[in-house]
Amino acid sequence: MATNGYEGELKMIEELTTNAEQIQDEVLREILSRNAGTEYLRGFLHGQTEKQLFKKNVPIVTYEDLKPYIDRIANGETSDILLTEPITGSGTSGGQPKLMPVTAQVSNKWELFRGLYESPLIKHFGDINQAGKRMDFMFARPEIETPSGLKAASVSTSIYNECNFRTILPKLYTSPVETIFCPDPNQGLYCQLLFGLIQRDEVVKVGSVFASTVLRAIKFLENHWQELCYDIKTGRLSDWITDSGCRNAASLVMKPNPEQADSIETICNCKSWEGIIRKLWPKARYICCVCTGIMRQYTTELEFYCRGLPLVSALYACSEAVCGINLEPLHKPCDVSYTFLPNMAYFEFLPVKNERDGSIEMKSNNEDTELVDLVNVKAGQCYELVVTTCAGLYRYKVGDVLMVSGFYNNAPQFQFVERKNVILSVDQEKTSETDLFKAVTEAKALLDPLGFILTEYTSYVDTSSAPGHYVLFLEIKGKEGKHCKELDPKIMVECCSRIEESLHYTYKIYRKRNIIAALEIRVVKQGSFEALMDYYVCKGTSLSQYKKPSCIKSEEALKIIDSRVIGKYFSPKSPL
Ligand code: AMP
Repeated sequence: MATNGYEGELKMIEELTTNAEQIQDEVLREILSRNAGTEYLRGFLHGQTEKQLFKKNVPIVTYEDLKPYIDRIANGETSDILLTEPITGSGTSGGQPKLMPVTAQVSNKWELFRGLYESPLIKHFGDINQAGKRMDFMFARPEIETPSGLKAASVSTSIYNECNFRTILPKLYTSPVETIFCPDPNQGLYCQLLFGLIQRDEVVKVGSVFASTVLRAIKFLENHWQELCYDIKTGRLSDWITDSGCRNAASLVMKPNPEQADSIETICNCKSWEGIIRKLWPKARYICCVCTGIMRQYTTELEFYCRGLPLVSALYACSEAVCGINLEPLHKPCDVSYTFLPNMAYFEFLPVKNERDGSIEMKSNNEDTELVDLVNVKAGQCYELVVTTCAGLYRYKVGDVLMVSGFYNNAPQFQFVERKNVILSVDQEKTSETDLFKAVTEAKALLDPLGFILTEYTSYVDTSSAPGHYVLFLEIKGKEGKHCKELDPKIMVECCSRIEESLHYTYKIYRKRNIIAALEIRVVKQGSFEALMDYYVCKGTSLSQYKKPSCIKSEEALKIIDSRVIGKYFSPKSPL
């Protein structure tokens, strides 16, 4: 972790980005010289380690291709079928947890990465470690044990488990470890807010891994501030917090503090919660969470609550590899680019073609397309990210589409475009996450001047009747005293039309030919998306890593959201 020596880290960023090509070659050379003899790579490289052979022979794979090898390791075979470095544990990712080997080198890279992505923040906002505490909302998931006894945990949980992290936690963060590891995320969140409020004068940064978690915390506060104030006033924790760890941690610091409770009450009692974060935590310098990609939909609402404070998206990483950092923390979320760090993994890029004029549908040229090296990507071009790591992933498609926005020294900078395969499709048409986001933005623009905020959305393809049609679930909130019950049905029908009109050409043609039926909006009651999140968290997704699906695939999740519908509206006419 960067404390005083952030200049050292900034210098390292200069060196890494200047020597990107040479460092990438070294990274690949090291990975291959260690692992060319593994069962997996032997099949393609026959013990050789040349880059050209690697590029020619090693196939581009997805998790499904590597799963049989990973499962064999999880079941007790030696890990050197995939990699030679001993496995220290296993990472998990996604709603259906994917297992991923973790080694000491992986943990070291994360440690180094933290120092590097924090250094531009220290440069802009000063050294918050010296100034006060971070109120980060953090939620660990219980570890899973594989049949061979390896411990598997999400990346964030592994970080919270590290000895180093636990040592610095009390000094640098407001949340005690018990609240992070609390098995009930709601109790954990209540306590993290409580500790953050008690120490409100020390908080210099507010954050979480993803924007959705920060927003969830603020909404939770909207529903619980009176109770929190009561606890602060009396110095007693609410009875529904039954977790003994949380209760013990609270008993160590809570004492009656009526003045503090009164000032929080006065702030929260305000008619508008615009800028509430700054009011409650007056020394906070910025809010840090991933605000790009799927998280972009949360930024408008989050910006409302954090008015006056910069919203910083500091890093781009995934369970498979750490990738890039944001060198310009003051950029607005929509302008954020991540500069790739060439020492973190060997990165390759699969060009992605824009096949439809003017629209955003992406289609990969398949495996016969040459992968492009990190330093050879072209500005303005979109690529799918492929990584080779020290932890047994070779030419692995992460599933993210990125666009080159420029270069910093010789290292490319990428904007996050979309997560692949998050699409709606009734027939041959493909609607990407970006298409959907654009269309929903139209509905937002229609509702906003009428006093309604579209706060959440997701979608699914309803094929229960023929032809199938797109369904959008929307959660809508009334501004200042308005209730979403006052929504005029005519406006909602207009929203359906606007959304259809802004979808791509193929969609519209299919609608005209009645290959797709009229688009439907289902308005859901307040809190439906929290219920959806609770469902995914129950299923094993870590709250810290939760990303709301843009499109619902699971029957159970669909039932949850569908049972909360309060109004259904259909597009009245074909958009063409
Ligand atoms: P996980 O492995 O579960 O932590 O999820 C990693 C995924 O989260 C990535 O592959 C991206 O799709 C998404 N992600 C992570 N960081 C960012 C970011 N800065 N911007 C957009 N999406 C991100």
